[in-house]
Amino acid sequence: MAFVPFDDRDGWIWMDGDFVPWRDAKTHVLTHALHYGSSVFEGERMYDGEIFKLTEHSERLRRSAELLDFELPYSVAEIDAACKATCERMGLRDCYVRPVAYRGPEQVSVSAGKTKVHVAIAVWDWPSYFDPETKAKGIRLEWAKWRRPDPMTAPTAAKAAGLYMICTLSKHAAERDGYADALMLDYRGQVAEATGANIFFVRDGALHTPTPDCFLNGLTRQTAIKLARERGIEVIERAIFPDELSTFSECFITGSAAEITPVAEIGEHVYKPGQISETLVNDYTALVNGQLELAL
Ligand code: PMP
Repeated sequence: MAFVPFDDRDGWIWMDGDFVPWRDAKTHVLTHALHYGSSVFEGERMYDGEIFKLTEHSERLRRSAELLDFELPYSVAEIDAACKATCERMGLRDCYVRPVAYRGPEQVSVSAGKTKVHVAIAVWDWPSYFDPETKAKGIRLEWAKWRRPDPMTAPTAAKAAGLYMICTLSKHAAERDGYADALMLDYRGQVAEATGANIFFVRDGALHTPTPDCFLNGLTRQTAIKLARERGIEVIERAIFPDELSTFSECFITGSAAEITPVAEIGEHVYKPGQISETLVNDYTALVNGQLELAL
């Protein structure tokens, strides 16, 4: 399929309370967010007409903005409604949903008190983050040279645009080297996450995943933990160091876009997507499609 730039598509984008034609959903070059990174966003998926964890995403959008010292002019319920309305307007029932909130062009300086806060929501068809064949076999991860920052250095609990600078750099390096994505350590040298997804490992039938104390505690991560516990699989959240990677048998990443994607390689370590990864991939698919209820 030919690549169509994101600013040259048909449809409608919700902007500050109204639908505008897709190609007209613009902001001025002096937008504060463009210069100073004052932007937060969400990534969600609609499955068969239902956005999975919609309210949790809308709550996180508002919380991320608060961590960047701005308040959204819309309530969680209004953002929920706008996300649904945008999918409906676009005639999509299975799609990716991208709300973004940012400071506008009313003031260009580090100080941003006079800026207005804008919110936009765009939705589009996006079947799989990784191509389906790669996803089935497991993806290959390269070690990133960039590290997740100390929470004293950046608002690490926010899904903030500025925190993705090192993700893009890491992902570019990985792609140049023929890998699908990169695995980042944190400022202490502990295993943290991929560039847009959390990570899990399997050892002796139990799941091990890093404690999210300097990166997003992803909604998919939280769902995967619940799914595992419902299956009676032990889940251990703890500090994981790179020298442990040879002791794990399976590995997968989790994210709203990536869903649950098995990992086949991290640097010199090889993993085989096994029974636990498969079970959780299937349970997640059933859950997001409304074919499974979580008791926990
Ligand atoms: N970490 C990063 C850096 C991400 O971009 C994402 C995707 N939002 C995640 C983790 C996973 O978050 P979630 O499961 O809520 O999508």
